[in-house]
Amino acid sequence: MSLPKIAWIGLGIMGSPMSENLIKAGYQVTGFTLEREKLDRLAAAGGTAAASIAEAVRDADVVITMVPASPQVEAIAYGPDGILENARQGALLIDMSSITPQTSVDLAKAAEDKGIRVLDAPVSGGEAGAIEAVLSIMVGGEQADFEQAEPIFEALGKTIVLCGPHGSGQTVKAANQLIVAVNIQACAEAVVFLEKSGVDLAAALDVLNGGLAGSTVLTRKKDNFLNRDFKPGFRIDLHHKDMGIVTDAARNVGAALPVGAVVAQLVASLRAQGDGGLDHSALLRAVERLSGAQV
Ligand code: NAD
Repeated sequence: MSLPKIAWIGLGIMGSPMSENLIKAGYQVTGFTLEREKLDRLAAAGGTAAASIAEAVRDADVVITMVPASPQVEAIAYGPDGILENARQGALLIDMSSITPQTSVDLAKAAEDKGIRVLDAPVSGGEAGAIEAVLSIMVGGEQADFEQAEPIFEALGKTIVLCGPHGSGQTVKAANQLIVAVNIQACAEAVVFLEKSGVDLAAALDVLNGGLAGSTVLTRKKDNFLNRDFKPGFRIDLHHKDMGIVTDAARNVGAALPVGAVVAQLVASLRAQGDGGLDHSALLRAVERLSGAQV
């Protein structure tokens, strides 16, 4: 049986390595994104660069989208030049962007009218997880569509779970972003505390990571903290968007997130000070400012 033809929209920090992993797994991938150099990168990896969304999705069995946020998902999905108007009936649309659960629910409804099936399938694991194909993929939608998409997910990630109906993947991703932000904030506070105490920071973070304080966040971000290297990675701008999603979704169901709300404010403050383009490990800069340390 031949592999489904893939259209990939959004070849950024995540979309580029993820689409390349599908090419390595033998899939035919046609891509579209806004930056010329990312299209050249796809072509160099063995994919096909398209000139528009319509051209990318026309012959595709599966359309995968990986763009920043809800407004971009709506821009690429709807309208005469969008995916729903131009993909063929029976195609499967997998949105892997992190967006509001409601946008995913609305998209699934709109697509159903066009005979297009939808899964929301946001990911966790960062740029490194995308490159290494070890992402966690949290999926919302129908069981049968999930089963059809599973071989594709297996080329991109390691932990792949159907969480429930449309929007459920996004709800779980929102919880993921809450946990990651609070974890980074705790690590950043520990770093400033340890440095001000005169302890060898590298040694301290190593031993901390071997105990109950250890985490994937600490493993992946330790060098960012040690070297003050805040090249993204995952931009503060995107985490600000995600803290908005989780805060809003939690309010809708009556869940209190007191610590999450504080960290959301710290992320917003960092962004307001011009650090939105830095990696989210730059939460360290906010703690340093609060502590009167050099940044
Ligand atoms: P990015 O900004 O690096 O890439 C986004 C891509 O979307 C760009 O290449 C851009 O050209 C494309 N795009 C935007 N509007 C478009 C349009 N109208 N038509 C075609 N292409 C369009 O972002 P990223 O870091 O790759 O993140 C993508 C999504 O994945 C976000 O929702 C983010 O929250 C989520 N995510 C990111 C990470 C990470 O570590 N970077 C980890 C997990 C999840």
